Amino acid sequence: MPQPTTATVPGTAPAGTPAAQQAGTFDLPALQRGEPVLWAATAPRPAGQAQNGAGISQLDVEAAVARWRRFAPLLAGLFPELQAREGVIESELLPVPALQQALELSPDFGTLFVKADHGLPVAGSVKARGGIHEVLEHAEALALRHGLLTPDGDYRVLAGPAARALFACHQVAVGSTGNLGLAIGVMASALGFKAVVHMSADAKDWKKARLRARGVDVVEHAGDYAQAVAAGRREAQADATCHFVDDERSRSLFLGYAAAAPHLARQLAALGRPVDAQHPLFVYLPCGVGGAPGGVAFGLAQLFGPHVHCFFAEPTASPCFLLQMLATTPGFEFLGSNPSVYDVGLDNRTEADGLAVPSASELAAAVAGPLLGGVYTVQDDTLFKLLHAAARTEGLRIEPSAAAGFTGPAMLRDTPAGQAYIERHGLRPHMAAATHIAWTTGGLFVPEDEYARFLARGQEAAAASDAAA
Ligand SMILES: *Cc1c(COP(=O)(O)O)cnc(C)c1O
Repeated sequence: MPQPTTATVPGTAPAGTPAAQQAGTFDLPALQRGEPVLWAATAPRPAGQAQNGAGISQLDVEAAVARWRRFAPLLAGLFPELQAREGVIESELLPVPALQQALELSPDFGTLFVKADHGLPVAGSVKARGGIHEVLEHAEALALRHGLLTPDGDYRVLAGPAARALFACHQVAVGSTGNLGLAIGVMASALGFKAVVHMSADAKDWKKARLRARGVDVVEHAGDYAQAVAAGRREAQADATCHFVDDERSRSLFLGYAAAAPHLARQLAALGRPVDAQHPLFVYLPCGVGGAPGGVAFGLAQLFGPHVHCFFAEPTASPCFLLQMLATTPGFEFLGSNPSVYDVGLDNRTEADGLAVPSASELAAAVAGPLLGGVYTVQDDTLFKLLHAAARTEGLRIEPSAAAGFTGPAMLRDTPAGQAYIERHGLRPHMAAATHIAWTTGGLFVPEDEYARFLARGQEAAAASDAAA
């Protein structure tokens, strides 16, 4: 693990000790050197279901949940893998005792689970939630406007000839490092839309090939993720029949992710894991632009209020959401309103391609930022070690981005900022009853040879650190 592990779980750092004082500062030079760091929120969280600048509320989350339900019969017909699931795109919540042991997380600090979005059907990543939701919302609006559908009608008509003819005159476009393009491209082409995916230079070849095989038009850009999005946005603005899925600003994407929360709440209840003042819930979410983790965090905050503590996880080369949050911290205003990782000398180069984003979504920051517990970073080598450990101990097949959640509990336990967070919220006496959820955000469709390379690299990194120990 990246942090020096203290031999015992630090139990007693009352306010006023060095640990608590350090929480008020943040070691920006360590972040700039690419070391794993944790920024933890010190401002009190807004109470209850506070309104936010973007005007997104629990009603919007419920509307997204209802939309998924209306579309389920259509989805079951369009995708054979959804037939047995009655059209529900959801993932398991898995107990992972062997992995918890391999991570050296003592049960005194709580119990670890995995939210297995790496196995989400249709898109193979968390993007199935946001990306597919936005395509469905767009298709629904078009079909209603053209009188092909009534709000309480049978949505399976959207697979019929009239709807397909309508969708064929419309285009859905998106800019993506890969996974969002996969989700949007697969769903849009399944409904008969023309689909265009603008991809950044760091997008993997297999993702481009998979999309092209589905008839999606893949446009390659030499620049990074932000540039691919900007190019797609520009082209779409010139065309009234084009709907651009804007990963940096989209409300529909955000709500598709947020709709995960009620289902997760039912899964926790089914596993006998209460969430309340005596049973805190910690959720560790890999973060790119912030939409996926932000949506999930927002949805969970609506249900569990102050008892859920969401932490975002980013590669050390791409900590855009950390910088975004840091910029709101007294003493760090110089970072500006929407800082980029390049501004602080980082290069945004990471094998975690789902997280290779230079600046955060301001929508996600506005809506989810105030609800966050914190943001931490993970080195690429650690991601590969964790990917390998997840496979060895629990047979989980994940991509590097999806491993970022696994260091969350240790960052909380072993860093001064994490310890101070636990003290500030009075959580110390309740840690043994805590539930930790690492959200594994992608992996299902990684090709065999690519995955074998990931595993080998993880094994090498693990052997190297064993030898050094
Ligand atoms: C996109 C992605 C994320 C993060 O989602 P954002 O909305 O970009 O923050 C995490 N993991 C994987 C595998 C992804 O593809």
